[in-house]
Amino acid sequence: MKAEIIAVGTELLLGQVVNTNATFLSEELADLGIEVYYHTVVGDNPQRLEQLLIEAEGRSDLIVLCGGLGPTDDDLTKDTVAEHIDRSLVQDKQALTRLHEFFKFSKNKMTENNLRQTLMIDGGIAVQNPTGLAVGTLITENETTYLLLPGPPNELKPMFQQNARPLLEEFFPQAEQLISRVLRFYGIGESQLVTELKELIDTQTNPTIAPYAKPNEVTLRLTAKIADEIAGQQLLDSLEAKVMNKVGEYFYGYGDENSLVKVTVETLKKYGKTVTVAESLTAGLFQSTLGDISGVSEVFKGGFVTYSAETKEHFLGIDPALLEKEGTVSEYCAIAMAEQARKLADADFAVSFTGVAGPDELEGQPAGTVWIGLAQKGQPTLAILQHFNRDRKYIRQSAVMKGLDLIRRALDKKK
Ligand code: ATP
Ligand code: MG
Repeated sequence: MKAEIIAVGTELLLGQVVNTNATFLSEELADLGIEVYYHTVVGDNPQRLEQLLIEAEGRSDLIVLCGGLGPTDDDLTKDTVAEHIDRSLVQDKQALTRLHEFFKFSKNKMTENNLRQTLMIDGGIAVQNPTGLAVGTLITENETTYLLLPGPPNELKPMFQQNARPLLEEFFPQAEQLISRVLRFYGIGESQLVTELKELIDTQTNPTIAPYAKPNEVTLRLTAKIADEIAGQQLLDSLEAKVMNKVGEYFYGYGDENSLVKVTVETLKKYGKTVTVAESLTAGLFQSTLGDISGVSEVFKGGFVTYSAETKEHFLGIDPALLEKEGTVSEYCAIAMAEQARKLADADFAVSFTGVAGPDELEGQPAGTVWIGLAQKGQPTLAILQHFNRDRKYIRQSAVMKGLDLIRRALDKKK
């Protein structure tokens, strides 16, 4: 079963909207064992859409279209597909009832064009929209199946998961499914990771290994194509063991959701430890990053933003004469900031960041020079010197990631 996804919308071609529907649909279809071979985007133009339909029919069994089911004149996906396969549009009763209920409840006036949203392609199966008004259609004609979905992701997602997916499972049961696992690494670049795993990657067939580089980290997606879930997990276990054997020291977690900050917070919770921070270079970014994680209050005490020499003295009690002598971007400063913050907040851990965000140099040191301190209860304080490349934003983000990793590693040593 070969599938492709056509996203319809001029706003996508203009770069105003990112085609996240294609990403979502691809993942869902892969999960069903349906392989997606093409993603295309076409503007709100019936001729070009029809041209694309002709191309798609030549190479795919299932064509998923998203966008253009709305009430306005530029929403022409339904009309174009219906005309192309020589069908008419008919009103779906359930969608009509929903439309009337919606307007009754909201007390807004229903305009005539809203009725367009209740139309589906004659002869197909209506796909109801739990969070919107536009009904979709699943229809097969001349051995090609068309699935029409709306554009807004908050409608498309529940509609696909609740109503379209069960239909696809019923009509197109696949012998094999794709089972995948994501491994996350910090502290190793993509090129080095790929070099370390060259032999495994070169000989991959099933499962496959796909590396993906994100700012400051790399993920590996291992995917097995197999009928039996348990056998698939075993294949992944065995490949994972080989991967870990080579690059396990950089591994920190599984899954798309588990970012380094999330894993660090979970690890702090696991050991019942608290953290604080003194931020110069990062100006609050570390604390803001922690704040993204729900339940962080259990381990995060709050912290300090000390951007100037005065606040380093007044908030943290750092000796101004010593700071003047050693410099702001120094081992001394990183250690003093971390130690003072830890004591003042009475936390188990404190990290500190001081450095040159750039683009200009500071105290004769180039942009990207960063000192990160780590103070721990009952342990000597350490400070490490890092040199990050690229721009200001990247340098500050890199520092935050390194700080998180220092805490996570210090905790893991406590095992
Ligand atoms: P509406 O009833 O809102 O008009 P529609 O089905 O006609 O829905 P479109 O008009 O094509 O859909 O798109 C509506 C909005 O949905 C777009 O402005 C955009 O924000 C979002 N959207 C559309 N297509 C995509 C896509 N492929 N990926 C992510 N978002 C999208
Ligand atoms: Mg629209």
